[in-house]
Amino acid sequence: MSLTRDDILKEAKAMGIQFLRLQFVDVLGIPKNVEIPAKRLPQALSDGVNFDGSSIEGFVRIEESDMKLVPDLDTFMFCPWEKDDRVARIICDVKKSDGNDFEGCSRTNLKRILKEIRTKGFEMNIGTEAEFFMFKWDEKGKPYTTDKGSYFDLLPLDHEEQLRRDMVIALEELNFNIEASHHEVAPGQHEIDFQYGDALKIADNLITLKLGIKTLAIQNGYVATFMPKPVYGVPGSGMHTHLSLFQDGENAFYEANSPDGLSNIARGFIAGLLQHAPAFTAIINPLINSYKRLVPGYEAPVYIAWAEKNRSPLVRVPPQRGSGTRAELRSPDPSCNPYLAFSVIIKSGLDGIEKILDPGKPCNNVNLYEMSCAEREEWGIRNLPRNLGEALEELEKDETVKCALTPHILDYFLNAKQREWEEFQRMVHPWEVDRYLELY
Ligand code: GLU
Ligand code: MG
Ligand code: MG
Repeated sequence: MSLTRDDILKEAKAMGIQFLRLQFVDVLGIPKNVEIPAKRLPQALSDGVNFDGSSIEGFVRIEESDMKLVPDLDTFMFCPWEKDDRVARIICDVKKSDGNDFEGCSRTNLKRILKEIRTKGFEMNIGTEAEFFMFKWDEKGKPYTTDKGSYFDLLPLDHEEQLRRDMVIALEELNFNIEASHHEVAPGQHEIDFQYGDALKIADNLITLKLGIKTLAIQNGYVATFMPKPVYGVPGSGMHTHLSLFQDGENAFYEANSPDGLSNIARGFIAGLLQHAPAFTAIINPLINSYKRLVPGYEAPVYIAWAEKNRSPLVRVPPQRGSGTRAELRSPDPSCNPYLAFSVIIKSGLDGIEKILDPGKPCNNVNLYEMSCAEREEWGIRNLPRNLGEALEELEKDETVKCALTPHILDYFLNAKQREWEEFQRMVHPWEVDRYLELY
């Protein structure tokens, strides 16, 4: 059900809202906001709010920096974690001051891709499993995890059980349909899953989820991080992404008469993911640190392959069929900008459908981590990029994936990430000093 301006004004009054955060993300997916007092709500909801975009990552140069935030009325929500004041938030699209679309707005970019997929008769459903760590700081300012918990543990091993539950309660107040929450494999690592849905809504929800988890963690003396691999030697944090296409209300990935229950649309989509994975990796694994997670042995993918009964490849098809038929892309991590991540993933899958690409045979019952190079070659299995530098090179070569982003976003992203990669390359890291200084 869509909210109108009057619905929101009525609700804000009834709830005693004092402030409204007008929220958006920069090109790297970092949430930003401008806050207005309640008396400005009627005007902001009708006309949007002007702001200076010159200091926002990936937005505009000083000489053309007047921009406008245009609220998406359906995203109005009370913020339950604001303790002292009554605060609500609304997610905005960033426009130019003349009201035209701004090419640097990642949310508008995803809307463009979703429109494209809709004109082809599809609706995209997405579900995500974002993992995160919670740390405390010691006296020297170093982060440490407080618990000894592992997968599915509870007290006394899981110290953050109550805090995680508070996070779930806050998210439910925001109408998130929480499916489950649990301690993950590494000490201090957790996961809170919410129900799948329309791709735009899930991207909005991911931003809200991360913000809520981080806020509640800080309020309780912790720092919550969605950094992909914060601790050496234990699993990193992934954001497995479940994908399905619907056509006329039916799951288009399901085909009752095929031996594996998968339709040609599912097969094409999966093949598109495999084909374009090297190029979209830079967007869905955007940090130098993302590649410390994508190594063998920690349930994170390293090789470009698909399977039904196996968690080592890039794409897994869970056993559910009928309306639950879906593909799980296992490489994304929660540091990505979800609007851009979904844009490149959807465009790649769509390309596979349109070009009738074949994903080959599934790698069921083989452990890809244990296969030799020769065996992987025989199966035609390629590696994911091994670092951000390689991933950026792949992105630059792939016209389909590049088209999933506006030229403005693509240019900014490539430049910013190239600089990040070069800086890291030039830096002398503590590991090198430890290893080489005395010996050589
Ligand atoms: N933490 C793993 C990853 O980095 C995922 C573990 C799981 O299957 O939930 O992808
Ligand atoms: Mg998990
Ligand atoms: Mg999973």
